[in-house]
Amino acid sequence: MSETMTAERDLFAKFDDIIQIRENLLASGVEDPFSLVMEKVLSPTRAICNGRDTILLGTYNYMGMTFDPDVIAAGKDALDRFGSGTTGSRVLNGTYQGHREVEDALREFYAMDHAMVFSTGYQSNLGIISTIAGKGDYIVLDIDSHASIWDGCAMGKAEVVPFKHNDIEAMEKRLKRIPEGAGILVVLEGVYSMLGDVAPLKEMIAVAKKYGAMVLVDEAHSMGFIGEHGRGVAEDQGVLDQVDFVIGTFSKSVGTVGGFCVSNHPKFEIMRLVCRPYVFTASLPPSVVATAATSIRKLMHAGNKRAHLWENSRRLHAGLTDLGFSLGTSEPQSAIVAVIMPDLEKGAAMWEALLHEGLYVNLARPPATPANMTLLRCSLCAEHSSEEVETILGMFERAGKAVGII
Ligand code: PMP
Repeated sequence: MSETMTAERDLFAKFDDIIQIRENLLASGVEDPFSLVMEKVLSPTRAICNGRDTILLGTYNYMGMTFDPDVIAAGKDALDRFGSGTTGSRVLNGTYQGHREVEDALREFYAMDHAMVFSTGYQSNLGIISTIAGKGDYIVLDIDSHASIWDGCAMGKAEVVPFKHNDIEAMEKRLKRIPEGAGILVVLEGVYSMLGDVAPLKEMIAVAKKYGAMVLVDEAHSMGFIGEHGRGVAEDQGVLDQVDFVIGTFSKSVGTVGGFCVSNHPKFEIMRLVCRPYVFTASLPPSVVATAATSIRKLMHAGNKRAHLWENSRRLHAGLTDLGFSLGTSEPQSAIVAVIMPDLEKGAAMWEALLHEGLYVNLARPPATPANMTLLRCSLCAEHSSEEVETILGMFERAGKAVGII
């Protein structure tokens, strides 16, 4: 061995700042907001968390499909008939009848020609964006885009041009500067999940098309809920036919795990051979695709549930505003109502006070949040009763007063 060995440089040194922030937070005695355990799940809206009976207001179970009897039965049946997993890629031994059926359900749900299912929504963005926008192409995207979108951009090596959140003029300025003839992908989200605000898709897509761009819209937080048929914000704003690629997930309204892209592009099927995050990973288990297909088909006819979820969202937004909380949007725009906290310490204290009241919400902090905000993100479910929403408001009032936020 060499006598002049140098000391090992610890590759974990780059995490020292975040380790310190976490230690400081825990030293204040607060329950760790990032290691909560759901010991028992009683329904889409209730669980035993850290030993307490808790109302869930921080899941993405918007349509409450996780305990739907038909969904559960489909999963059990597929588990019995097809086994626990496929042990292979979609392009080899991993395409079962159920994968075809869930893609059929998606094509029908969106009334589109092609549907491709990935193992997660994260991989859907990673795969589609990196595969269609490569070296020499341009991606114009909202600066508040989800991590999976940013990672897809980085993986594909296109020129990445971000613009200010939901700012149509800023987007046009970026598009104007792109060299003539270059391929352009504009990436937008229907609902931005941190503040629960909606994109002005109609205007933005019109601008994108003026510059010859293709458009991808991530409808992760709107599928199943927003729009007459639950197809998302693009449907609601009447522009779904101008969207080239819709990305979505099974991990929110659908109530299981998985992701997808739907499209009318005539060459779309080639993606199954060239998209690495589709090819080089195992396909979803049969029970998962069976629950997803059943859920998606039920979501086609869930108008009453959508109406009740809107009612819940409006009531929570109005109630929290009346109590004096500061919210992420002035009007309710989705099933997410974000409560802005003064700082991380107060946010964590409020999060804990709510948990002690028997309410779980999401604590979100930078870098996931825009403008360095600490947020208590409340996401409503179609299965929350109107009475439960009133109970939730009472919990917020008591916790907010105890912590000194209102
Ligand atoms: N896109 C957006 C906008 C998301 O919020 C998320 C998940 N939070 C994803 C994609 C990834 O979805 P999945 O959980 O299926 O990986």
